Amino acid sequence: MNKLENYITGSWVSGDGDGQLLYNAVTGDPIFSATTKGLDFAGILDYGRTIGNAALRKMTFHERGRMLKALAMHLMAQKEKIYAISYLSGATKADSWIDIEGGIGNLFANASLRRKFPDLPYCTDGEPIGLSKGGTFMAHHLLVPKEGVAVHINAYNFPVWGMLEKCAVNWLAGVPAVVKPASITSYITEAVVKEIVASGILPEGALQLLCGSAGDMLDHVTAQDVVTFTGSKTTGLMLKSHPNILEQSVPFNMEADSLNCIVLGNDVTPDMPEWDLFIKEIRKEMTVKAGQKCTAVRRIFAPANVLEDVYIALGKALAQTAIGNPLNDKVRMGSLASQGQRDEVKGNIQKLLASSQIVYGSLDSIEVIDADAVKGAFMSPILLLNNDPFGNENVHDIECFGPVSTLMPYTKLDEAIALAKKGKGSLCCSIVTADDKLATEFVVNAATHHGRILVLNRDCAKESTGHGSPLPMLIHGGPGRAGGGEEMGGMRGVKHYMQRVAVQGSPTTITAITQSYQPNAKGKTDGVHPFRKYFEELEVGDQILTEKRIITSDDIDAFAALSGDHFYAHKKKTDFSGTMFEQQVAHGYFILSAAAGLFVDGSELGPVLLNYGIDELRFTKPVYPGSELTIRFTCKEKLPQDAKEEGHIPKGIVKWYVEMLDETGELSGVATILTMVKRRNVARS
Ligand code: NAP
Repeated sequence: MNKLENYITGSWVSGDGDGQLLYNAVTGDPIFSATTKGLDFAGILDYGRTIGNAALRKMTFHERGRMLKALAMHLMAQKEKIYAISYLSGATKADSWIDIEGGIGNLFANASLRRKFPDLPYCTDGEPIGLSKGGTFMAHHLLVPKEGVAVHINAYNFPVWGMLEKCAVNWLAGVPAVVKPASITSYITEAVVKEIVASGILPEGALQLLCGSAGDMLDHVTAQDVVTFTGSKTTGLMLKSHPNILEQSVPFNMEADSLNCIVLGNDVTPDMPEWDLFIKEIRKEMTVKAGQKCTAVRRIFAPANVLEDVYIALGKALAQTAIGNPLNDKVRMGSLASQGQRDEVKGNIQKLLASSQIVYGSLDSIEVIDADAVKGAFMSPILLLNNDPFGNENVHDIECFGPVSTLMPYTKLDEAIALAKKGKGSLCCSIVTADDKLATEFVVNAATHHGRILVLNRDCAKESTGHGSPLPMLIHGGPGRAGGGEEMGGMRGVKHYMQRVAVQGSPTTITAITQSYQPNAKGKTDGVHPFRKYFEELEVGDQILTEKRIITSDDIDAFAALSGDHFYAHKKKTDFSGTMFEQQVAHGYFILSAAAGLFVDGSELGPVLLNYGIDELRFTKPVYPGSELTIRFTCKEKLPQDAKEEGHIPKGIVKWYVEMLDETGELSGVATILTMVKRRNVARS
């Protein structure tokens, strides 16, 4: 029997003893054993904190993002090896694609997310906050990587995605991980970690793996660590209330089982495309991964007058699902991950049968292709019907983590909303409707109880990612029963692994710390126009104060003629009584153009390649003929860009803070403009 290895403190280590036997879900044969017996869990965490954390927290977001990209590309190149082992869990090719390539997709998505962060190890959070009238005292929120490790305790159903969707985020944040996959499918996670370690892409200590029990690890976590849990409500609750987690206020993110639902809008009739979309979506949710998805639809709500039509249509659709050996091309649904899981699902169906009946499928018989229905963990999709969802409530409480869903009637939309909420908080819910008014009413009223809501109709169906797919840029998690946690969500997810601190001081100090120019900070002037400096030479705070320009009435007339903007406020002859202005006023866009005329230095070729756009633009005071315009022009932020191909000009984006001042020194406008600036040296991704 092959004993799985644990990757800890920089080596592959076997635990003591025989360990827990793990089985091929299709044949029932024992294939591996897993044990962490004898491992020093305190030492594992300490190694992550001292070696892995120290290495990652020094890297900038951009370096960490490029590391994720390299890892994603490496794993893509190795993916066939991972598919080969994933079949042992009963997963079809399509199921494994979600797990393997979905997981790698998370690495890619988080790699790209680096562009939203500065090229620093830490970042700001939100807007700067002025705290004084004189402008000498302010604050900014700063996020720094926590000094601990991310401890991920994962469920068995997505052994690859479950690890990568979490690690992509903690690595981008600058924090290492200790991953403890669920034992029964940990052999797939082990195979991926072997590839990751062999690649040498991650710094030492960035990833450790435990195949088997978590031992006494939670006794040793601290407030600088983050524990994430994905699994059943019962285990989650037990771990969340671990005395050490409570005592030390260890951040704990819980993603638990949830009773997700789908609603058929009462505008939809069997002749509409939305009807077919509804049936197809449910079939997919019940059969993909044999229903072992945390997001799978467990409860189906349809208008009472079409209930029978719905279960007939669903029965026909489910009957087309070929079940059996996932290596056989004809097979659309494989087995559950273990016999134990199948027993648990069947046990829970029995509980639901106290208040419902089976309208499709059988608990006893199943036809399978190229496999043994008894030895393998196969089961038929089961559609239940519960005619009294307000009276028989166990359907809103018992999760059958397999190809099982219950159909229930409702009459008015209010009832569908109330029933959706009876799940007491779920990961996601869908409504299929062609009526946007109905969709709005449902979403606004059901939103409190769900982490994600999909509104499905003919307009989005072709490109819809579907009910059951968590996406790296969207939050994944849900309130109440679903655990009250949040993962991924683009930049939001990264923040779980960082400590937020409010920093107060002068604008000059806050500029130095954040590497982002703050209004009223001291500028740096060395006599060289910033447009003459290459990307590496520019410093945040580099500043010039331009010559003056007097704005005349003729300028305003000429700009009106050139642009075609003849708004009444820009005309001399307008009667200004009752308007916001005293007399003819300059166009805001003219003031910005005149500002460019003052701050641009570029009649000769130089490092500035082009004007890239404007982030923010505000006109704060009217500019009348005779006003004197001066510009304070400051380097606000620098964002490096990777050189993509040979021959591309190496460059970065520079943000400039443009203050348009009048003769009294008051601001008449402010803008953040962007330019592309050449580098002297190349940074290749
Ligand atoms: P589980 O039995 O609750 O186990 C989850 C994880 O907790 C496993 O890694 C398990 O390890 C570990 N664990 C159990 N006891 C522990 C202890 N005393 N100390 C530390 N770790 C411990 O769940 P599962 O059967 O693997 O997964 C199925 C459930 O997960 C379903 O209910 C499903 O709804 C839920 N799920 C939720 C999400 C989500 O995102 N919300 C995603 C996927 C699955 P061992 O395997 O070694 O026992």
